[in-house]
Amino acid sequence: MTTLTTCTICNTTYDVEPIVCSKCDYPFSASEEEKSTFVGQLFSKKLIIQEARVKVKNTQKILWAIGGVNVFYFIILFSFHPTLNIYILDLLLGFVFIGFGFYAAKKPFRSILISLILLLGIYVSNALVDPISLFRGIIFKVIFVVGLIYGLLAIYQVHKIKNKNEYFKEIDW
Ligand SMILES: [Zn+2]
Repeated sequence: MTTLTTCTICNTTYDVEPIVCSKCDYPFSASEEEKSTFVGQLFSKKLIIQEARVKVKNTQKILWAIGGVNVFYFIILFSFHPTLNIYILDLLLGFVFIGFGFYAAKKPFRSILISLILLLGIYVSNALVDPISLFRGIIFKVIFVVGLIYGLLAIYQVHKIKNKNEYFKEIDW
């Protein structure tokens, strides 16, 4: 008759107690102190993932703000010059950013990265035409760019945790 050993962290069962859990790396044969250190580290990693979720939600809001600014810009220009000219691009880009804001709930890294490249592309191409344009609303530009980079870093950190430990892979993004 064999008694099964169950991992206290991830509930994986073993016929023979392993040295470390193959799924979550729980150190079965370590000292109590090492075990509690392991649990502490596991907890702080969980916290990082939770915080990253909040950061991604904030990044979504930034994407909606970028989109909103573009749509608003179009409305202002259109009210002064009611012709569908080059400014229609601002409206379309506005909707693209708003769309990526929603898509970030599903594919956060991809959505934010594409948005960041697009945003920098817009700033650079505008600056090539009119260098002064770069300084127009510079504070908002900095907030937008830094905000998106901040979101990407948070997601990258979560990816690193997930790649190292099988247990975290099961946690939904
Ligand atoms: Zn385990």
